[in-house]
Amino acid sequence: MVKARKYVVKKHFEGIPKREDFEIVEYDLPPLQNGELLVKAEWVSVDPYQRAYNSKYPVPYDQFGFIVGEVEDTRNPRFTIGTKVVTHNGWCDYCVVNPNESKGMFDFVYKLPDLKGLSPSVGIGAAGMVGITAYFGFLEICQPKAGETVVVTGAAGAVGSIVGQIAKIKGCKVIGFAGTDDKVAWLQNELGFDKAYNYKTCNVNEVLKVAAPNGVDCYFDNVGGEMSSIIIGHMNDFGRVSVCGSISAYNDDVSQLPRAPILQFHVVMKQLKIEGFLVHRWLNRWPEAIEELCKWVFEGKIKTKEHITEGFDNIFNAFVGMLAGDNTGKALVKL
Ligand code: NDP
Repeated sequence: MVKARKYVVKKHFEGIPKREDFEIVEYDLPPLQNGELLVKAEWVSVDPYQRAYNSKYPVPYDQFGFIVGEVEDTRNPRFTIGTKVVTHNGWCDYCVVNPNESKGMFDFVYKLPDLKGLSPSVGIGAAGMVGITAYFGFLEICQPKAGETVVVTGAAGAVGSIVGQIAKIKGCKVIGFAGTDDKVAWLQNELGFDKAYNYKTCNVNEVLKVAAPNGVDCYFDNVGGEMSSIIIGHMNDFGRVSVCGSISAYNDDVSQLPRAPILQFHVVMKQLKIEGFLVHRWLNRWPEAIEELCKWVFEGKIKTKEHITEGFDNIFNAFVGMLAGDNTGKALVKL
C-alpha cells in the first residue's frame, strides 16, 4: 500500500490565495488495476490558471496542475517502470493514472519527450503546456511576419519569454514588458528582445512612442488591464492581438474588476483582430508544437530559465510567489 499526499482546495480564494484555503491530505492509494501506473511526482508546476479557474470549481477539489513523474509500478505494457511521464494530476507526491483513459486537457498522461539530457522539468515548461501556449497562441493568432513589431506583456514569465523568442526566430522586432529591472535585463541581454521595460516604473505610452515609432503589429497579451489598453492604442492597421490571459486581475473580486480605457475606437479605426484562446483548442496538434519547441531549445534558439522551489510543503509558497512575480521563466517545484 502506497501512502500519497495531495493538496485539496477547501475554500474559494478571496484575493491572494491563503495557506488555509488548502489542506494537505494523506491517503492510501488503491492497488493498480489493468492499464494503470503508479507515478512518483518529481516536478510540480505552479501556474496562473490555478488561480483563475478557482471560482469555477465547487470546493473541495483536488488542486489540478501538470507534473513530471516517474513510473514506479505498472500494469500497462506501454509504460514500463522508470518511464518518465507528464500528467495533469496536480499537486501530489504520488498518483495512480491510466493512460488508456487519457481523453483531454485535464486527464493527460503522455510520455515525456526525449529532452536529450535536459532536465525533465522542461517537459512542463518550454516543451510543455506553457511552451505550447506560446507556440499556437502567438503563431496561429498573431500570424507574425518578418519585420513586424511585436509587443509581449508578462514577457519574463513562462509563456511570455517563449513568445518573445519565437517572435525573434520569425524575424520580428520584439518589445517586452516585465515587472523588475532584473527581468528587463534578462530579456534584453540574454533572450535577445530588442527592447524591454519595467512596467512598474516606466510610462508605457511614452516608451512605446520611442520603441515602436512605426506602431505595433502584434500584441501577445498575458496581463490585461490598463497596460493592455494603452498598448492596443499603439497598434497599426490590421494589427493582431492574441489574448492569452489577464493576470493583472486574477486576484481581484470579479464583481469589482478595475476599469481599463475604452478599446473600441482603436479596434474600429485600426481594424484590429483581437482573439482569445485556450491552448487545448490545438490539443490534437500538441505533438507538432512539442517537436518544434524541442528543436529550437536544442538549437539554442529558445533559452529556458526556471525558478525552482524545493519540497512538497512549499508548493503553496511557490504558487503565491509566482502570482506576485517572484519568478523569471517557469515557476516549478522540485519534490
Ligand atoms: P508567468 O510565468 O508569467 O508568471 C506570472 C507572472 O505574472 C509573474 O511572474 C508576474 O511577473 C506577472 N504578474 C503578476 N501580477 C501582475 C500584474 N498585476 N500585472 C502584470 N503582470 C503581473 O505565468 P505563465 O507564463 O504561466 O502565464 C502567463 C499568462 O498566460 C497568464 O495570464 C496565464 O493565465 C496565461 N495562460 C493562458 C493559457 C491559455 O490557454 N490561454 C495557458 C497558459 C497560461 P511580473 O514581475 O512581470 O509582474
